Order: sequence, then C-alpha cells, then structure tokens
Amino acid sequence: MRHLVTIIGGGLAGCEAAMMLSRFGINVRLFEMKPKKYSPAHKLATLGELVCSNSLGSTLPNSAPGLLKAEMQDLHSVVLEAGYESMVPAGNALGVDRDRFSKFIQQKVEMNPLVEIRHEECQSLPKDSHVIVATGPLTSDALAGDLTQKIGEDTLYFYDSISPIVSAESIDFSKTFFANRYAEDSEDYLNCPMDQTLYETFVKEIISSEKVPVKSFEALKCFEACLPIEVLAERGMRTLSFGPMKPVGLTNPHDDRPPYAVVQMRRENDPTTLYNLVGFQTRMKWGDQKRIFRMIPGLQNAEFVRFGSMHRNTYIESPKILDAHLTLKNDSKIAFAGQITGVEGYVESAAMGQWAALSMASKILLGQPCPLPPSDSAMGGLIRSITQKPLHGLFSPTNINFGLLPPIISQKKIKKEDRRRQMVERARTSFSAWIAGLDESLRKTFENKTIKRSHVG
Ligand SMILES: Cc1cc2nc3c(=O)[nH]c(=O)nc-3n(C[C@H](O)[C@H](O)[C@H](O)COP(=O)(O)OP(=O)(O)OC[C@H]3O[C@@H](n4cnc5c(N)ncnc54)[C@H](O)[C@@H]3O)c2cc1C
Repeated sequence: MRHLVTIIGGGLAGCEAAMMLSRFGINVRLFEMKPKKYSPAHKLATLGELVCSNSLGSTLPNSAPGLLKAEMQDLHSVVLEAGYESMVPAGNALGVDRDRFSKFIQQKVEMNPLVEIRHEECQSLPKDSHVIVATGPLTSDALAGDLTQKIGEDTLYFYDSISPIVSAESIDFSKTFFANRYAEDSEDYLNCPMDQTLYETFVKEIISSEKVPVKSFEALKCFEACLPIEVLAERGMRTLSFGPMKPVGLTNPHDDRPPYAVVQMRRENDPTTLYNLVGFQTRMKWGDQKRIFRMIPGLQNAEFVRFGSMHRNTYIESPKILDAHLTLKNDSKIAFAGQITGVEGYVESAAMGQWAALSMASKILLGQPCPLPPSDSAMGGLIRSITQKPLHGLFSPTNINFGLLPPIISQKKIKKEDRRRQMVERARTSFSAWIAGLDESLRKTFENKTIKRSHVG
C-alpha cells in the first residue's frame, strides 16, 4: 500500500519534510501557493525561498548553529545541501546566492518522483491523509482561519513580541541581586539596579537608537502591556521607571540608597543557563541593543543569545497543543513544522521539517513514534524548547543556542570555549548513538552520507 502525506507550504521546512518522507518511500502531495499567490515577504516563484538575509548562520563546528547543521547533515538536509551548492564568501557564516539556493531546492523536489507539487493555496486542513503544516510565519489568512477552528483562537499568535535573552555565565552577579518585589529572600528575579544618572542616560540612548523599520504588512498592533521599550521611553523620562523598570519593593543589598530604576531578569530554563530581560521587547537594531543593554549593571559583558524583536509571525502555542513529535495532541494525523512551531530562523525551521517528517514516517511505517533525539543534542534541545511548557510567562519563539542544552557539570571552572567544545563533543556522540539506535528501516536511509560536509572557516 502506498502511503500519502500532504505537506502545506513549500518553504524550508516543507521541502525538508518532503525530501525526508520520500526517502522512506512515502508519497507526498506538496501544496505551495506561489507563484499564484505570494505572502507580503516572498518574491521568488521557486520553493525554499530565503525571505530576508542570505545567511544560514555560523558554520563554526563549536557554535550552536554549527552543531545543529552537523546534525541536520547527518539526516541528509536538502536545505544545507542547497546552501553548500550555492555558497558565497561570508566569513564563518554560510552565505548563499539566494536564487541558486532556491532553484537547487526546487529542482530536487520537482525531480523527486514521489512528490507531487500543487501550486495552490490550501485553505483548510485536508482530511484524506496525514498532514504536515509548514506554512511559516506568513501563513495565508484563509488557512490561519481554518487552523483556529482546529486548535483554538487563543493558541495561534500573529506577532512576536520578544525580550532579549542573555547567557547566565556572561552576567556579573556582583552588581545584581536576587529578590522578588517585597520579598528579598526570594530568588525569582535577578535585579540590576540603576541610579538616576545612569537611568537617564540609558533612556536617552534608547530614544536615539536606530530602530528596525516597520514593514507595511506588519503594521504593529500591540497590547498596552507589551509595548516596545522605545515607545515607553518616548512617552517621558520617567515612564520606564514607572513601568517595566519600576524599583518599588526592591532593596539593593549592596547599596544603602534605594535604586532609582531596576531592570529585572527572569530565569528562562531549569537548570538556569539563560535569563530574559522582563518587559524589554524592542525594535532597536541588534547592534544598538547590544551596546545599550550592556550599560545595565551586571550586563557589561553580556552575551545575547537572542535579541529583542517585534514582528509579524504566525506561530502556535506548541507546548500546549503539540507533543514532542510535533503532532497535535488531539489529532495524531496532523503535524506542524518550521517557524510556525515557534522556532526562529531558517536553519531551525528546516530542522523541524526534518524532525516532523522523520517522526511521521516512523509512525506510518512502524506504527510507533520515533525515539526523540537526545536532549543534549541541538535538535533535541530545540524540540524540547518548543514543546515543553515555559517556566514563566508566555511561550515565545527561540533560535538555537547553547542555553537550550544541559550545562556541563564540573567542580572546576572551565573556560567558555572549552565548555562549548565539550558540549559539542557530547552532542555529536549522543546524536550518532541515537541514529545507530533507530529501527533499521529508518536508520539505513541515513547511513550513506553523501552530502558535502564542508564548513567555512
Ligand atoms: C519578513 C521576514 C524576514 C525573516 N528574515 C529572516 C532572516 O533574515 N534570517 C532567518 O534565519 N530567519 C528569518 N525569518 C524567519 C524564518 O526563518 C523564515 O521565515 C523561514 O523561511 C521560515 O521557514 P518555514 O519553512 O517555516 O516558512 P517559509 O519558508 O516562509 O515557507 C512557508 C511557505 O508556505 C507557503 N504558504 C503559506 N500559506 C500557504 C497556504 N495556505 N497554502 C499553500 N502554501 C502556503 C508560502 O508561500 C511559503 O512558500 C524571517 C521571517 C520573516 C517573516
């Protein structure tokens, strides 16, 4: 019997998923609305389009994006194959010629006898097959409407409003203190106190910083509770100190004088390797965010694993509605892949296309779910970060970073580069063991490693 999976969206995740399923002899019907209909950001008629930057991020083996790439190559990623085929010089990053990149993917998918491409907008979830929804951050309105029927209005988001995240190891804790408002013995928040002079300089810098322009299709509609900090700063010198930076109820144990303003940071994961800056969603350009946020006491050497941003982004509340196989908890025939699952970035989106398809192939062919990639691998860390309930607050999108992997436990202080190298070695070993432990019918498709494995730098 021939199995059929419908994939909606021929972007990075959708093409990865199509190629992965076909490797297992599964037929694919791929819906892509281009060139009949374009999202406001897509321009090319071909599949697998890079909508903005032409960089697929770092290729350095000891970086988190480099590690994710190595794992994706183990699983025969067509996106990375296209990346290396269309590479342009870009230092340690995988820069690509976007036309050649997209044409390469188009050709691979078109030439695949098991994939039927339908250039149509899919307006509702098909009922006659398994489905992978990979329609990306700019999912068409009709399908978004149908999705809300299936998953509930409150689990589909249309805007990212995210605060920066810094690695815990880069914080200078001597300038900060743990306290919850009115509860000094609580360790819930890490507080960075400011005096009046620093606060006022900080506000002026925010106001004069460069902002990412708002695209016409993004026309930001923000709730009052999640306004960008620059909007608050422009309302008046004291607005931030009465808002997200209010010092009320916080006593600085290092200083007798009460703080004039406080930046609060909240733990992002457990064990805590990451902190996010509470209420610091912003459209400031990344360079300015780094420069200005490093003025915050304790963050003078901060490493930003994610910058703040606010942009149009359709994504679902994955921890609530998806299992770790990216299928709906209430309908195992429907899976999601790509940016719509709450990952952020080209490569991360493609990786989730691979995982959703591998997992679905396992269920279809073997009648059982695929074992999860190890939690200390990049792929495993990413899957867990989007499917496990966040420690605090709302679920928000994430890119790959070392903070998603369990820390290296050691009595001795290990230099950052050494720790990261160890994390990469640990991940490479456990990822290989994971592939080796897969059922033979799945494993044999990954054994013939024919993909160019070069890295730049
Ligand atoms: C404006 C913008 C800029 C971005 N810039 C970057 C960047 O510089 N670097 C980076 O790493 N990430 C960037 N991203 C984030 C993200 O990495 C990319 O959007 C990435 O392409 C997501 O991959 P995907 O496969 O999930 O979705 P996409 O690559 O967007 O693919 C989705 C596909 O589905 C199609 N589609 C949508 N609805 C339907 C439907 N109903 N029926 C049929 N087809 C449909 C679309 O035409 C599209 O081809 C950006 C996102 C946006 C919105």
